[in-house]
Amino acid sequence: MRKALITGVTGQDGSYLAQLLLAKGYEVHGLIRRASSFNTGRIDHLYQDARDPDARLFLHHGDMTDGVRLLTLLGSIAPDEVYNLAGQSHVRESFDQPRFTAEIVAMGTLHLLEAIRHSKVDCRFYQAGSSDMFGDSTPPHTERSLFAPRSPEATAKAYAHWTTRNYREGYGLYAVNGIAFNHESPRRGETFVTRKITQAVARIQAGRQDHLYLGDLTPVRDWGYAPEYVEGMWRMLQQDQPDDYVLATGTGRSVEEFVEAAFEHAGLEWRRHVRFDERYLRPTEVEELLGDPSKAAEKLGWRTSVGMEQLAQIMVDADVDALEHEGRHWVDDVRLPGWSTSATD
Ligand code: GDP
Repeated sequence: MRKALITGVTGQDGSYLAQLLLAKGYEVHGLIRRASSFNTGRIDHLYQDARDPDARLFLHHGDMTDGVRLLTLLGSIAPDEVYNLAGQSHVRESFDQPRFTAEIVAMGTLHLLEAIRHSKVDCRFYQAGSSDMFGDSTPPHTERSLFAPRSPEATAKAYAHWTTRNYREGYGLYAVNGIAFNHESPRRGETFVTRKITQAVARIQAGRQDHLYLGDLTPVRDWGYAPEYVEGMWRMLQQDQPDDYVLATGTGRSVEEFVEAAFEHAGLEWRRHVRFDERYLRPTEVEELLGDPSKAAEKLGWRTSVGMEQLAQIMVDADVDALEHEGRHWVDDVRLPGWSTSATD
């Protein structure tokens, strides 16, 4: 049985990736931070008691700032694949906590790569890069586009990207960078703009809220559906040779267009509800991120099928559903062929 270690397993991507790998027959190990309250809501539906002989998902406390812990964990698990999805990934937040963001995203990746190198565990390594690394660079962005990061989160991701590359070229590790453009879902964190919008739409429709406060509506992003992106991550680790790939839909749409699609799906007129709040502006904004996924399509056979409108609909429907199930544990069904219809199956 193949074994995978996922850092950031409690996040959006970590939870979908764990779901995908379990369905593929993997034993999955996840790194979680200790907190006095539980933070495993996105993976509770996948968890089985570790004493159950059929259990294949195991959670380990640890932190990306603790290199010794990463080294010992890696040695004891001896995974075949390591997916580094942990991070303080919120761009606006990274301006307020630049040092913390760098510790987790940049130094954390270094700790993990050093742990792999020194433990000599024979494993493949996936680094979750971000389209934010392109920043001001001219779109459309390919694997060869220049990085021009405009936030502490993006500069930290660029450090992690080049470190991963250097460990591949210098030490011969099977280490790859996935450069994923914005990918969203009902499991997206609630302060990222898409989820903030769809959650507000559900609440406005239910008469529980009147207004939604947002920042700049003009930036363009290349928005895809997260479960499709974790499939791309997995494919990168199944190739003969390690390489870097962009994961994107190839279509850019503005924040305003997403707002419009989400409100319209709920039968609401967005201009009546959306208000501006300068607190959501960033000191430096990235105006346009647009990926060219040709290489992933050609080499990995990876393609997206969900565009921005359908994504907005999936997310609004899920938030309406979640509001109806308030107080009970609820998790979204993945609306893609090949995924189980019920996440609790
Ligand atoms: P990012 O692309 O990684 O920064 O993902 P986000 O979902 O956080 O932001 C996407 C875009 O939406 C950025 O250009 C933000 O400036 C813009 N935006 C506008 N209003 C908001 C808001 O209220 N919250 C967030 N998170 N982003 C906003």
